[in-house]
Amino acid sequence: MRRETLSRRSVLAATGGWSLITTGVASVVGDTARDDSGDNSRDFIVVREGTAEETTVFVTTGAVDGPTAVVVGGMHGNEVAGYTAAGRIADRSIDAGTLVTIPEANGVAIERGTRTDDEGINLNRQFPDGETPGTRLARALWDVVKESDPDILIDLHESTGLYAGDPMDGVGQAIFHSAGDDATAAAADAADYVTETRVDDPALAFQTGPFSEPDTDPTGLLAHKAARDLDADGFLAETRSTDIALETRVQWHTAIVDRLLEGDLLFDDGASEEPADGTDGDDESPTASPIARIETQPPSAAEAPLEPGTTVTLDASRSRDPDGKLVAYEWRVGDDGPFEEAGETIAVPINGTGDHPVALRVVDDEGATAIDRLTLSTNC
Ligand SMILES: [Zn+2]
Repeated sequence: MRRETLSRRSVLAATGGWSLITTGVASVVGDTARDDSGDNSRDFIVVREGTAEETTVFVTTGAVDGPTAVVVGGMHGNEVAGYTAAGRIADRSIDAGTLVTIPEANGVAIERGTRTDDEGINLNRQFPDGETPGTRLARALWDVVKESDPDILIDLHESTGLYAGDPMDGVGQAIFHSAGDDATAAAADAADYVTETRVDDPALAFQTGPFSEPDTDPTGLLAHKAARDLDADGFLAETRSTDIALETRVQWHTAIVDRLLEGDLLFDDGASEEPADGTDGDDESPTASPIARIETQPPSAAEAPLEPGTTVTLDASRSRDPDGKLVAYEWRVGDDGPFEEAGETIAVPINGTGDHPVALRVVDDEGATAIDRLTLSTNC
């Protein structure tokens, strides 16, 4: 951000009316500047000014009208890649619309390097649907979000576990999304995109999952509230924080955000395709492994108990090879034994109660393989 080039200009005029500024929940620190990479104007708003919770909101307005996106990082102070990526996103230029970035939502927790603040409060449980948020910080942040009236809200997080269908067991390497076909498709597209372009370990392929239902744990999440109270498409991205270089995780987050904004605030993905310094995500290498991915029809078949007698279709078509093509799809139904079935999709009848583990093995044109697994079950 080139703050040295800022020229004074009325923020209210520039943003078309941030009534926050006049109602006292926030104040302006920066002024508006033209950006040298295009016709972006930039404003800065401070929330909880003068308190330990003070944090800056960055508002970038593109040259042409378009949707509004809010990007949030640092809800949890130990999720470094999320707030590092959000900080970079705050500086990025957009082609259209408005980008509101809150890179360090919970400054106290970031300062402490902990999930919660110094009173043990988990900020991302303070946003109940349809109600006033639970803390002064949450209310101040919600005022900014509400005033922005976003079409899209993306909240960036990290997890030590990996998502495998139940958010209570781990949520890393996943994009959670609000209900509706558009958000569901956008999450799947972003997961595919980041996996294809920046993930070389098939075990770290990004998955997607729906937001928990209202009144189902976890509750009080900002992204859920934005979706339910403001009708935004809500996304919550989670990288795995353990055993992966910070820079790699930051790039995963920025690639996910870029992809989710493409077509709305960004008109080409050139920026997100730039080679990254010092990353290990070089998927163009001739030895890249294929990525196996099982999808089910019905879509929730691996997450909800199935009626005995149901037939589930397993679909491998979202599997891929970053540097070539897949030449075989092989399936195993049952605990162990050979991969006996072949084909991009197979039908699995659920005969009898209990667990039905299945595995997909894909083979690429260099003979490299990858495996994805899931369990179909009649149990709750
Ligand atoms: Zn988090």
